[in-house]
This record gives sequence, C-alpha cells and structure tokens, in this order.
Amino acid sequence: MNDYHVHSAFSDGRGDVDGFVGRAHELGLAEIGFAEHLVPRALDSDGYGLPASRIPDYVRAVRAAGEDTAVRVLLGAEIDYAPGAEAELDRLLSQARFDYVIGAVHFTDGFAFDLPSLADDPRWEDPDALYRSYWDTVARAASWGRFDVVGHLDLPKTFGRRPSAPMGAAEDAALEAVRQAGLAIELNTSGLRSSAGEAYPAPSLLARAARMGIPLTFGSDAHAAADVGRDFGRAVVLARAAGYTTTLRLSDRVAEALA
Ligand SMILES: [Zn+2]
Ligand SMILES: [Zn+2]
Repeated sequence: MNDYHVHSAFSDGRGDVDGFVGRAHELGLAEIGFAEHLVPRALDSDGYGLPASRIPDYVRAVRAAGEDTAVRVLLGAEIDYAPGAEAELDRLLSQARFDYVIGAVHFTDGFAFDLPSLADDPRWEDPDALYRSYWDTVARAASWGRFDVVGHLDLPKTFGRRPSAPMGAAEDAALEAVRQAGLAIELNTSGLRSSAGEAYPAPSLLARAARMGIPLTFGSDAHAAADVGRDFGRAVVLARAAGYTTTLRLSDRVAEALA
C-alpha cells in the first residue's frame, strides 16, 4: 500500500518529514509521498501553504528521508488550483522536480469553503451554486495539464452539507475532464474523519470513475504521523466495491493489484 497525500510541518501538518516516513515504515507501506500545499499568494491568507522560499529545504528533507529506509519516499505537492492563478502556480511548480502533483480545489470564486472558521459563512446558503462552481473548477483544474492526480473529489461535503438534488451531470463533466487529461483520482480517507462520514469521493462517484477507467491512488491526508495510512483497510474495501482491481503506483506509474 502507498500513501501519497501527507502534510508535514513544511505546510499545515505537525511534525517533521522523518516522523511520517517512520510511521510508513512501521505500517509496511511501500511508498509514501509528501504533498505539501502550494497556494496562490492571494488565497493564502491563513499562511497554510509552503512558501516558495522554503521549497529547496522541503526538497532536501524529503530526499534525505528517503536515503536510508526501505520505504520509497516521493516528493509531491498539493496545488490549490484557482482559475486565473495558473501563471503563479506554474512558477511554484518550476521550483523543483516533483515526482507527482495533486490538483486540489479548496476555493470556489475565492471562497475557502472547507475552512472550519467559515463553516457558517452566508456563502453556504446556496449549496447547489457552491457545488456547481466546485465541479466546474475541478473540470478546469483537470484540463489545465499540470496535475497527475485530482485530490479529494467532492470535498464540499466536508461539513455534511449536500446539494438539494444530485449533481450527476456536473460530476460527470468533471470526471470526463479527468479522464480526457489522463489523470488519476485519489481515494482520500480524511472524509471518514470529517462530518461527511465517508471518504472522498462518494461510492457512486468512485464507481463511475472506475467504469471510466480512471486510475486510483490512496491518500490519508494525514497532518500528523499517526494518521499515515489511516483507514486504508476500509479504502481497499471501498475501491473493490466500486469496481477497482488495481491502484496506480506513482513512482513509476505502474498499476498494481489492490492489496
Ligand atoms: Zn486538500
Ligand atoms: Zn491535503
């Protein structure tokens, strides 16, 4: 098993890189990938992103952590995609040779909809509009061409708020953009620890992605070493139920059988 979505103190997680790698080793994971947040400056009012000036330190720490362990350690990034920020994101991505890049949508029209401090924001009064904007932004992110994996699909459910009616068409358009761009999606188990009570994406979405042949990775979205690989046993069950028989190994892009 491989966990490609963890955050150390280089962005908004707790603890150093070595602690996460040590936990991956304890669990017997074959690969762990760090996915520190790279965020357009205008959207990072909370300062949760890894500043460009610290990217070289991040690269050194991740590469050093991989030197004397059986676990393969990958250098990744979670990019906060926002339409209009592509040039700035390009500059951030050009600072290092990342092994893979996760594209994530945490903002719709500048609204950080997944921030707990904004859970009661008036912009939540029309969840349908928010979800529509979210899926549209996911499609644009996929089409941008700089990502390998689309992160935590259907994140707006994080506080348990759902659209008033199924969003099948908008979801399908986003999945089709992902398929056309040749990207993977991830099964992100942090949803199980949220008010949504289910992984990202929902089982029905995961099943559609499987039918479309979209590759799958696993991510815990751990922000502390103790959460590395969290709920991966449940993730395997969910992936199988959705029709997946393989996951994508990001070190060499090989599909390996589900454990
Ligand atoms: Zn995220
Ligand atoms: Zn994350």
